[in-house]
Amino acid sequence: MRESVCFDDVLLVPQLSDIKTRSSVDLSVDLGSGPVLGVPFISAPMDTVTGHRMASAMAEAGGLGVIHRYNSIDQQLDLFEKSKYAAAAIGVTGDFLERAESLFDAGCNILCVDVAHGHHTSVKLALESLRSHLGDSISIMAGNVATLQAFNDLSDWGANIIRVGVGGGSICSTRLQTGHGVPTLQSVIDCAMSDRSSLMIADGGIKNSGDMSKALAAGADLVMIGRLLAGTEEAPGDVVQVNGKKCKVYRGMASPEAQVAWRGEYRSNEGVSRTVPFKGPVKDILNELERGVRSSLSYSGAKTLQEFRAKADFIKQSSLGRVESGTHIDI
Ligand code: IMP
Repeated sequence: MRESVCFDDVLLVPQLSDIKTRSSVDLSVDLGSGPVLGVPFISAPMDTVTGHRMASAMAEAGGLGVIHRYNSIDQQLDLFEKSKYAAAAIGVTGDFLERAESLFDAGCNILCVDVAHGHHTSVKLALESLRSHLGDSISIMAGNVATLQAFNDLSDWGANIIRVGVGGGSICSTRLQTGHGVPTLQSVIDCAMSDRSSLMIADGGIKNSGDMSKALAAGADLVMIGRLLAGTEEAPGDVVQVNGKKCKVYRGMASPEAQVAWRGEYRSNEGVSRTVPFKGPVKDILNELERGVRSSLSYSGAKTLQEFRAKADFIKQSSLGRVESGTHIDI
């Protein structure tokens, strides 16, 4: 049986560095078409993460927001039109083509084919149909996938940017419900072997800028985050009081709660709904994450993300090493 590693199993080994300040590190990513991002951060297409306020805040911070698809076409268009240059998610059945065409006509130049099991013939058919209707000028993000074969297939089917990670999301119960999944970092390592030119997004289970850095060093071009942005002012949803503390809801899109809110019933149960502490403005969170990743490149002696990947030297840590790696003054 193959072995796998997750974020907490590994560390990056520090290397000779001549980086004088974190600001001399370049975190930009060229998406091919559409904007060149200043930071490789993307907000997840979830109804408690990316509406128009989050999409705009992500753009202002140099990243990208993907407007969720759990609404009518008109509601999604309204969110898109109120956002600064955002991407938008679609499915692979029902109104997906009409939704894609409406978004395209409204000026959206990055669509995200957003399904739980992306290595599926329905995704192939959807990508073929999108390409034949919208041509090659639009950038298509698709996923999620967990294996090199799946990454290559989606690339060959027409995806420019591929979301990698199955079962790792903080609100995800896919591995519990189905026994399927691959630790996100392992999938990133495997997909980094691809000779295709599609960009890779590490998605699911990223807890801090350390995990972001590990994903980027292992071969991801970008990272997608849900939990880290949930609970911020710009995340959709009201502030609620839980035991006298300000909170917001963060929920998996395959949770019964999200599905009932979206289509009145639930057909699968692969996610959970929780309240998370209210975190204030998202720019503070994004600044902190950016500082952490810049610092990470400096520890590796890398000025760009390409250099970071080329220089990355990972070691595995033991379970005791994991304890040492966290703050442990209270033990
Ligand atoms: P997080 O950053 O660890 O919270 O993970 C966010 C990611 O979880 C999203 O980008 C999706 O790929 C994934 N996800 C969202 N909703 C669900 C769900 O209900 N079940 C499983 N995975 C989900």
